[in-house]
Amino acid sequence: MDLTFFTLVYFLILFCLIAPPTEFRRSGLTIEYILSSYLGSENIDFIGYHVRRTTANLLFHSCLPLSYYIILILLNYLSAENYPFNPWAGGIYWDVYFYMSSSIALLAITLGYYWSSSKWQHHPIVTNLQQFGQPWRVVSSSVNNEFRRIEKFSSGELNFCTYITDSWILKTSTYTLLIAHKHDAKLSIVDSQTYQLAVDSPTAVQKLHIRVKSVQRGKCDFIIVLNSEKYQELTGMLEEPIENMRNLVIQQSLSDKFVVAFKEQVMRNVRYIIPENAPAPEQCIGCLTKSADVKLQKLCYPPQEGECRSCFCKPMWCLDCMGKWFACRQDQRRIETWLSSKAPCPTCRATFCVLDVCAIEIL
Ligand SMILES: [Zn+2]
Ligand SMILES: [Zn+2]
Ligand SMILES: [Zn+2]
Repeated sequence: MDLTFFTLVYFLILFCLIAPPTEFRRSGLTIEYILSSYLGSENIDFIGYHVRRTTANLLFHSCLPLSYYIILILLNYLSAENYPFNPWAGGIYWDVYFYMSSSIALLAITLGYYWSSSKWQHHPIVTNLQQFGQPWRVVSSSVNNEFRRIEKFSSGELNFCTYITDSWILKTSTYTLLIAHKHDAKLSIVDSQTYQLAVDSPTAVQKLHIRVKSVQRGKCDFIIVLNSEKYQELTGMLEEPIENMRNLVIQQSLSDKFVVAFKEQVMRNVRYIIPENAPAPEQCIGCLTKSADVKLQKLCYPPQEGECRSCFCKPMWCLDCMGKWFACRQDQRRIETWLSSKAPCPTCRATFCVLDVCAIEIL
């Protein structure tokens, strides 16, 4: 094989290992997968996993230039017979390359050794954790415990993920893990970029750049980048609103846009009046945060006409959850039909349409 061709193939494979495309990830050809027994489980020991993962990445990536040289030697690419007319073959250029690549590898190994000494005391993730309290193991177990819970926000993939748990904002990257405490963090949208998925595609993806700044230390900790469709979910995980100083327009997901239109229609519908002395509606069983504020009543046509059926369920859902339920029962490819379509009641399965959703009013 020609040296140039070999080099191309070699670096292509390496590139796929460092930034694996979907096919590589599916077939398990990622450093995380290959080293999974050493790295442990992210879900059980989040901090430990990322401490080991970032160290492994540093070591693996810094040994790549040297490994290229060694493979060339092993495959006889650098012997004089292959380059009879080239005085530099295996000469000074390759010597310089060898010394530089071995220095990079040696430096990284020394740094990796330093990080791991004294039970990872010196690892950047650990020094970062120490800002939030001592001993760092206590902070680390707080992060680990919260990460194990199902209710958390997550966005991104592989090495570039953002997680929000009950009290922590976490952002992973190839060589580090950035951490902010939710109660000490101020989030603000600093930029947005819109990408067209395909030339003739009507849908575009909006990426929001959100700055996470520590209130106490007054400095910018890091920037998280996420899909605008995730914005609603993100705000739901935060107690404080996200600042939008530049008044950037945030594109909502189709389902969110639909819920807005759904709510507008419901507000124009007839109200369902609850007498003053009747028991107040219970908590919505969809989100468990708001109280139930809608009741289904067949109003679109007279009782015996049309496809809709009477629902006798007591109010159990809030308007947002009912809107989302309605949206996910629709044909996802024909958005224009959603408002005029029907859905089954989430509890008794009686068919209803948007005209049958009544907001509750307490007398
Ligand atoms: Zn709800
Ligand atoms: Zn019902
Ligand atoms: Zn109806």
